[in-house]
Amino acid sequence: MARACRRVDRDPSEVRLLPISKTVDEARIRLSVAAGCRELGENKVQEAYRKWEALSDLPELRWSLVGHLQTNKAKRVARFASEFQALDSPRVAEALDRRLQALGRGLDVFVQVNTSGEASKYGLPPEEVVAFVRRLPAYASLRVRGLMTLALLSSDSSWVRQCFVRLRELRERIRQEVPDGDRVAGLSMGMSGDFEAAIEEGATVVRVGQAIYGARSLPDSHFWPSP
Ligand SMILES: *Cc1c(COP(=O)(O)O)cnc(C)c1O
Repeated sequence: MARACRRVDRDPSEVRLLPISKTVDEARIRLSVAAGCRELGENKVQEAYRKWEALSDLPELRWSLVGHLQTNKAKRVARFASEFQALDSPRVAEALDRRLQALGRGLDVFVQVNTSGEASKYGLPPEEVVAFVRRLPAYASLRVRGLMTLALLSSDSSWVRQCFVRLRELRERIRQEVPDGDRVAGLSMGMSGDFEAAIEEGATVVRVGQAIYGARSLPDSHFWPSP
């Protein structure tokens, strides 16, 4: 990460590493906490909640959900998560806000954008993002922090990079067109295979699992739809 920052003259402290611990068992998560991890990202609510309970002796840990959410799980997320990176519909925003208000909690959110048009069916199409962001102030407990994307899963690095560029350009549009649009400052993009390119294109959060914890046995299609 530091090397990628240096290549484009960025300060490494601008880029946050979010370790993604899906499928990783409690014992190995504890090792990573001992090594300095203070936040964990999970794709599925059930798994995240189970780990949050099992690791409740580590209250300083922040939990981030990075996977698609169904409204019937909003109550659970409202209880324990500090951040939700896959916001992509008014229905989910509404459900989360209602549950959060009831608990007197807030939640950092990233709006998920489908920048590839095919690698993932989740996320808003880029042309709908500005209108969606304009609606977010109605949900008082959601603090919008930025945009999130999953790049195309491709060995062609110029296609991957295009997804990152698209997300950055969308942030610029929001800054120009939405009142208070500079709140949407974060760019969550880049995973184990492409975090360096993402940093070069402006990522402020990289979500890295396998490069920290080792290869997963479950295929990615278990966590997001394949093309
Ligand atoms: C699993 C996952 C990641 C991390 O992928 P790795 O290949 O393990 O780095 C990033 N973002 C999301 C949404 C994920 O589900």
